[in-house]
Amino acid sequence: MLPGAVRERALSAAPPAYVYDLAGLGAHAAAIREAVPAELYYAAKANPDARILAALAPHVDGVEVSSGGELAHVRAALPGARLAFGGPGKTEEELAAAFAGPAPVHRIHVESPLELRRLAALRREADVLLRVNLPVAAAGASLRMSGPFGMDAEALGRCLDLLAEAPWLRLRGMHAHLASGLEAEPLLEVAAHVLGWARSWLEGPAEINLGGGMAVDYRDPARRFDWAAYGAGLAALRRPGEVLRVEPGRAVTAYCGWYVTDVLDVKRTHGTSYAVLRGGTHHLRTPAAKGHDQPFTVLPAGDGDGVGGPVTLVGQLCTPKDVLARDVTVERIAVGDVVAFAMAGAYAWNISHHDFLMHPKPSVHYVGPD
Ligand SMILES: *Cc1c(COP(=O)(O)O)cnc(C)c1O
Repeated sequence: MLPGAVRERALSAAPPAYVYDLAGLGAHAAAIREAVPAELYYAAKANPDARILAALAPHVDGVEVSSGGELAHVRAALPGARLAFGGPGKTEEELAAAFAGPAPVHRIHVESPLELRRLAALRREADVLLRVNLPVAAAGASLRMSGPFGMDAEALGRCLDLLAEAPWLRLRGMHAHLASGLEAEPLLEVAAHVLGWARSWLEGPAEINLGGGMAVDYRDPARRFDWAAYGAGLAALRRPGEVLRVEPGRAVTAYCGWYVTDVLDVKRTHGTSYAVLRGGTHHLRTPAAKGHDQPFTVLPAGDGDGVGGPVTLVGQLCTPKDVLARDVTVERIAVGDVVAFAMAGAYAWNISHHDFLMHPKPSVHYVGPD
């Protein structure tokens, strides 16, 4: 489960640290692209680390950015990459930035009629997708992107009226990111629904961006989203002349990152065994945000006090929410041991509240090709 090069670096790096396996990431992304008969964009918000973006670049058709900050960052990290610019509440400055680079962004995903008006007011040529918000059942989804995201049929109709008056904006098709945390089969059901709807709405074959949201199972790092089944399903759904695009984030980069730290204290309080680790959820917020136990491997390195059996791994923050894994059975964990938390490559460091309590920040290490 822990690649040799990652284990080696985990044991040699001063804790706390993030270790990214760039070779594994490249191979994973290449396999996704091979399996899926659609353009593959990477959703940068999952992990915008510049080395990760560079490792992904040969294996993706483009990058989806969701803010002016991500737009500037990805342009600097990957000059010339094809970009799709999405995200709610784009300001006039952010929309203008879409045209300020060496090349305009490839697609702008429009979230509302007012946003389209703001874009039209810039009087620049642009290729747009309208983001739709369709009610879907999406059984099993961890997060439904309903609410403010995208537009219903009434708002889309207003967009068509606006586009008729702004011929410098080219309507290329639809964008839909309706749910996340879905396995291949339910995600294909959502895709069929979106495609049926988009085809009835658009004239002629067009481009449909089906979003991301492919499931990642934090209970079992070895169980991966079934890209082959998803790809076969998309191939069956696609019609000649249509351009399909997907923009996953989590399922691309989750597996390439480890948060590595060491055990500072082991104690028993009111019947519960705790291992207190250097760092905590201010470095790896994912288990607190998603409410799961972050999978981990204990690398024996210490000769201090230890415990076995169910143990709760906590960090150094002064809050009971600083729990990385709860009541997980271990053979033994001891003061000085190194703990490598897996699946820390997406929505991990970059969503964490680093400055809370002012502990030192983790160093970042890369293994794999330079
Ligand atoms: C977050 C997001 C994605 C990526 O979602 P994952 O669950 O990380 O695959 C794709 N598209 C849009 C519009 C998003 O907001």
